[in-house]
Amino acid sequence: MTQRVEEMTMDDFAKATKKTDMAVIPVGVLEAHGSHGPLGFDNYVAEDIGKRLATKVGAILMPLISYGCCKVVYDATVFPGTVSISPETMIRLYTETGKELARQGIKRIIFSNGHFGNSPALMIAIYNIWNETGTACGVLEHWVAANDVRSKLFKRPGHAGESETSVLLASEGASFVKMDRAVVHLPPDTDAEKKVKAAGIKSYTRVMPAPNHGDPRDATKEKGEEAVNSTVEKGIALFEALKTYVRK
Ligand SMILES: [Zn+2]
Repeated sequence: MTQRVEEMTMDDFAKATKKTDMAVIPVGVLEAHGSHGPLGFDNYVAEDIGKRLATKVGAILMPLISYGCCKVVYDATVFPGTVSISPETMIRLYTETGKELARQGIKRIIFSNGHFGNSPALMIAIYNIWNETGTACGVLEHWVAANDVRSKLFKRPGHAGESETSVLLASEGASFVKMDRAVVHLPPDTDAEKKVKAAGIKSYTRVMPAPNHGDPRDATKEKGEEAVNSTVEKGIALFEALKTYVRK
């Protein structure tokens, strides 16, 4: 049977929730990703990792939430095609989607996140869902989950650079990558950023200085596959760990 909720009838869904208490919600964004990457870059990544994870554990796969926050952590609205939704709206959408699943028997939810700027909103949403329903939630992100293989695989990880482009090349989004247009960008910190960093501050919003960071030309599908596989393994472990946090 399909894992994808959109392809299920209502009876299929009812049967699926008797077989599993797990669901995966992929979350991405519409955002500029260098001169080589499609605007839906993070959507393809979130969906690919989410689909692999749901298939492996037999979880229900929810539709992709394809809009996200592009002015949190980094402001990427300075580049064409970026569509930024406020964190307040995204927190509500993530929370309410999770609560709708909890209402129908789902006890464990993993958000497969493709975009760093969504992380703060997701952190609040997973707390809300757990607090209000007892359903345990986690966020799976390749730049965190694949940390053990990243230093081996990538010289310079960064937004739409070697690491992220490799992960995209392992997904269905690969056909939209324009490698012949890939450019290396290593923007230095501005004077203001140097001062903030020297003060030991990590939490501040930075205007994205270039549409990608690092050299996407170093990206390969093979490196991407390894990072994705490591991420999916972590997702399987996370679903196991979430059992402990389900509130009866
Ligand atoms: Zn991205």
